[in-house]
Parts: sequence; structure tokens; C-alpha cells
Amino acid sequence: MLQIKPMIGSTAFFNEDFAKEINEIIDLSHPDESGDILVDMIFSTDAEDDILKPKEKKVTDLIKIDLYHSFKIPATDRFGQADEHHARVEASIDKIKPSLLLDAIEKLIVMKNKTKSCVHEMIRPTDPFGSEIKDGTGVCLACGFSMKDILKPDLSEYPLARDGKYVSQKPWGRNTFVQTGDSGIVLSGKDSYETAFFEACPKLCGDSTFLRGEGKSIPEAEARCWDKFEIIKNCEKHDFTRIVSGKHVTDGYAVCTKCKLYGSFLEPETKCVVCEKPTANKFADKVICLKHQYQQTDLEITKGTIQNDYFSGLFSSRKIDKADVPRYEYTQVFRALFSARLFRIAAKTLGDDILESRHKEISHLVISTYFCVLNHVMGVKTFDNLEFGVPLYKSTMQQIEDHFRINIIKRNEDIDKDINDIDRPPSKRMLLPKQLLKSK
Ligand SMILES: [Zn+2]
Ligand SMILES: [Zn+2]
Ligand SMILES: [Zn+2]
Repeated sequence: MLQIKPMIGSTAFFNEDFAKEINEIIDLSHPDESGDILVDMIFSTDAEDDILKPKEKKVTDLIKIDLYHSFKIPATDRFGQADEHHARVEASIDKIKPSLLLDAIEKLIVMKNKTKSCVHEMIRPTDPFGSEIKDGTGVCLACGFSMKDILKPDLSEYPLARDGKYVSQKPWGRNTFVQTGDSGIVLSGKDSYETAFFEACPKLCGDSTFLRGEGKSIPEAEARCWDKFEIIKNCEKHDFTRIVSGKHVTDGYAVCTKCKLYGSFLEPETKCVVCEKPTANKFADKVICLKHQYQQTDLEITKGTIQNDYFSGLFSSRKIDKADVPRYEYTQVFRALFSARLFRIAAKTLGDDILESRHKEISHLVISTYFCVLNHVMGVKTFDNLEFGVPLYKSTMQQIEDHFRINIIKRNEDIDKDINDIDRPPSKRMLLPKQLLKSK
């Protein structure tokens, strides 16, 4: 039986009688179809006040409704793995009149059946300015079905913005992070103002910097951002100062007095309490290099985690309920000790220099692994606190560590080869050994 269901967040506004009526109609007209059509309701902004009292809200006042219907299709992805893929079609209407909703549902079913029986011919989509999006996304010419990771990605010197919707028009370099935003142009006579922005984090002198340009359109904002980048690239010899916004900073952060380039370009003035190596890394109020941070005993890490300034700040700003503090601390200590074990493996496997130079990438893998363990092994939601005494058995931890050791070696090799996550087949990105993943 095919039926409509509210999405989380829409339940309060969902009129059950209305849904029942719709479901009876679609059951009669499509007795062979099955599954859920998820309904997402979005209110107009001027109706915001009413959201506070949803019960009084009339269903006919809703402004926009998106319908989603997921189903499985057999497909061969770009790695040659034949698999069942989860496909989703969607339809929108602007007012929740029964006839309109039924029209949208019909449209959805037609699209689904077209997609299911189509021999797809995938082409790359284009951004609003006509540039091809080459991240591997494909759109079928025949049925319009769009899928990620279906074509071979072709990462060029013109990086795709984070949201995947704008291809940069300047050669920032293939691994440069860029993002854009466009909230529309406001034109009112002389007072027209610019709302599009373009931000890039190009790598320079061993660190990355942050540049931003604004303009009437994203390409114009990008051109201005690029101009700033050109000034920096043409600066013959940077003259870095540790005086940032009138203050002397000691962590290595510096600004070029000539071109205004800024980032962590100098050696930190602070030194590790153990080995006196220059470092800006801090743990529990002491300056300590990463190698020595993870070499601390579990007891030291536990004490340091609890007395960390970060927590007192968090408690006061987020006003965590006093009763939750012990479980919150327990969770943070668990996380710190779990992470330390993986960082120690990284240090042992890759060496202390790489632990230091690629700490960001290693941390990323450590944290992803941690959350994967929470969700799939321990059955805890990402931001929930742990219950006291929830076990993580020694043999399980051993398997996690063995798997992490392989992952960290692969990840390091990929960085050497300048390969981004996007280039790698998903099968190689498994964070945990298969036998530990609970099927959901
Ligand atoms: Zn198709
Ligand atoms: Zn400079
Ligand atoms: Zn040290």
C-alpha cells in the first residue's frame, strides 16, 4: 500500500483526517504501488508566529509542500559495482488543496516508473553559468534522474563550490576549498546593494589563508576575490608580523604588512612543556606538542579533559542541566580516551612528524571513526550522552584499532598522491570492519 506520511518536523501540522482521505484515494488508484511518500511542509515566513500554536493552524494555509518518494533501482556505479541504489523523486506544490496534492502524487508515480524502467544515459549537470559540474554527479537525459558518484569525477583547477552548485571561473587549484552564497540582488535606485559572496581558502607558504569577495553576482564576487589573491601572489617577499589587530600573538599566526596575507606562517613562540619544541597546541591549559599530548597516561588525559577550560565555557553558555553534567563529562572523557588510542596508533604507524603535519586529516578520520562507533557499535546517537557502563569490549576495540591502522595508512598514501576523498571509491572509505556494523 502506498501512503503519505509526514516528515519529522511536519508532524505537528499534519492533519490526519486529510491524510486518511488522500491515502484511500491513492490506494484505490494505485493498488500495486507500495512504500511511503514523505511530506515536508514549509510555512511562509509571515506565518511564523503561528508556528508557535500549530494546532490552530489550518492545513490549507500551508505555503509549500515537498513530496519525496524513495525506491530502489538496480544500477551500476562508476566503480563497476552493480548494486541497488536508493533513488528519490520529488514534487512540489504551493497550496495543499487535495486535488493539487493528488496531481503531485500522480506526477511522482509517473516519474518513479519512468526512472525504474529507463536505461539511463547520464550526462554531467551544469551550473547556472553554463559550466559543467564534474564531481561525478550524473543526470539522465531521458528520465531526468540525478545521481551522485555515477560518472568519473574530473577534478580540475576550477574547483566546485561546497554546495556543489557553482563551478569557479578562476583556476584556484583542484584542492582549494571554495564556497559561495547569493541571497539575491536588492536594487532600489542608487541604493542597490550587493549580496553575493565568494570565499576561498588557497594554500600558500605551507598554510591556507581565507579570502572573500563580494559582488552583485557570484562571478563578480569571485573576480574580486581573485584580485586579492593576485595581489598576494605578486607580493615578492612577504613581510610577516606577529602583531595582529594591534596585539602580539605567539601561536605563529602572522600577517604580511605588504599584501595582508594572513595565516599560521611563522613558528610558534610557545614551547612544549615536555620537549621544548615550538608548538601552539594546548591541552588542559598547558602547551604541549601533539606527540606528548597523546603520550600522556589515560589518567592524565582524563584529568585534563575534565579541567579543560572549554567545558566550563560550554556549561555556562549552553546552560547544561546540572543533573546531566556527570554523564556529559563521562562522555567527553570516553571520547578523549578513545581518540587518544587512535592517535597513538597514527603516531606509531606514521611517525610523530606526520602526526604533527597531518594532524587535521588524522583528526578527521579519528572523529569520523568515533561517531561511527557511537552510532553503529554502541547504538548511541551522535550528540547524546553515554549511559554509565555501556560496554565497548576489548575484542571489539581491538578490531576497531586494527581497522583504523589500515585506514590511516591508506589515507596517508592518498594525501601523498594528492587524492581527495571524492576520488576514492566508497568501499575504501569503510570506517569500521563490516562485522561490527549493525544493520539498521
Ligand atoms: Zn533515465
Ligand atoms: Zn605579502
Ligand atoms: Zn613535546
